[in-house]
Amino acid sequence: MPDSLTIAEGRKLDIQKIRKDFPILETTVYGHPLVYLDNAATTQKPKAVLKAMDDYYVTINSNVHRGVHHLSQVATDAYEAGRKKIAAYINSRHTHEVIFTRGTTESINLVAACFGKKFLAAGDYILVSAMEHHSNIVPWQMIAEEKAAKVRVIPIDEKGELILDNLEKLLEGVKIVAFNYVSNALGTINPAKTIIDAAHRQGIPVLLDAAQAVQHLTVDVQDLDVDFLAFSSHKLYGPTGLGVLYGKEEWLNKLPPYQGGGEMIKTVSFEKTTYNDLPYKFEAGTPDMAGAIGLGAAIDYVQQLGIEQIHAAEHELMVYALDTLAGIDGLRLIGATDARHRAGVVSFLVGNIHPFDLGELLDKQGIAVRTGHHCAQPIMDRYCIPGTVRASMAVYTTPEEIDRLAAGIRKAAKLLG
Ligand SMILES: *Cc1c(COP(=O)(O)O)cnc(C)c1O
Repeated sequence: MPDSLTIAEGRKLDIQKIRKDFPILETTVYGHPLVYLDNAATTQKPKAVLKAMDDYYVTINSNVHRGVHHLSQVATDAYEAGRKKIAAYINSRHTHEVIFTRGTTESINLVAACFGKKFLAAGDYILVSAMEHHSNIVPWQMIAEEKAAKVRVIPIDEKGELILDNLEKLLEGVKIVAFNYVSNALGTINPAKTIIDAAHRQGIPVLLDAAQAVQHLTVDVQDLDVDFLAFSSHKLYGPTGLGVLYGKEEWLNKLPPYQGGGEMIKTVSFEKTTYNDLPYKFEAGTPDMAGAIGLGAAIDYVQQLGIEQIHAAEHELMVYALDTLAGIDGLRLIGATDARHRAGVVSFLVGNIHPFDLGELLDKQGIAVRTGHHCAQPIMDRYCIPGTVRASMAVYTTPEEIDRLAAGIRKAAKLLG
């Protein structure tokens, strides 16, 4: 038995206590206690989040910003309190720089469409990286096609890290840069500040896809000086169907609205419609009130534990996971071997076993992992592999679960090998 005890002792967070906040973790699958290692796809939700959303519907449900009546005002206050918590969590200068969307995907589509409409012309470049989620590739390809602009790609090396030696050259002719802080397929933590600073030296704005960062690291939009930042509630212990777009006030004011409808307008007539102020200019239609309240509760939960404590505990677990997996015959880790450059995710292959077959046999042992290209097909092409098995962790993941994963892989490899 490896040194999981030492890890437990070194931890400031009481993981067993935290696990009690997530009732779903008591599920059994095919007679085995569930080992949930698909957190990069979506995290589980603590009871506090479920309760906040239930309380909303039970006690104050009402449409926001519209009614003079009491419930509508209480609901509006609760919804806006959610926005304030998010603004504080990412340290945005103004609360109105936080826009609610349906998710990271919609946040990026919003920026691609609105920025592209106003600022892209034929021959311009958009710079993305080779390790992007499809959500941070396809919206740029769509607007590039519309504007006859082009998408250029920052390459990655064998270790799964961005090759930035020629960054100055890659930035030539570029109008916007978009890349992920942490890769969902490899777990690589990218040097966000270095890239943002280099882009800014040439006056180029940057969108950071923080979908895999906000749950693992401190993300401070002022410190990063990033122009746009996108993430999803459901990967940060919050409800599904809600996302966040942060944008610097000056940029959000410069962009045209995304969708038209209620809430995003000041006045409407058939001659001329005037648009609402931030953040409402980008929030057409009735928003996800319960979602915003749920995400606010998720952020309270994370803040209570402390994102730095979470990071420290997860880092220790990552060291343990990399070490444990390295001891498995034929296991090939994809991406960085240094835990300091990784967050949340380990991606690997075992011998010649197809990732799907391995994933299926792990499932039979109650271990939930993801297999395939993880919505990042260009990375798989880079390594000439069909996909990987991905095990992804959260604050409630234990060293014992990593041991179960390792034992599960060994058992599956024996059956399939
Ligand atoms: C999950 C994810 C997305 C897409 O998020 P949705 O919640 O599906 O909109 C984009 N980028 C990264 C890095 C992700 O992990």
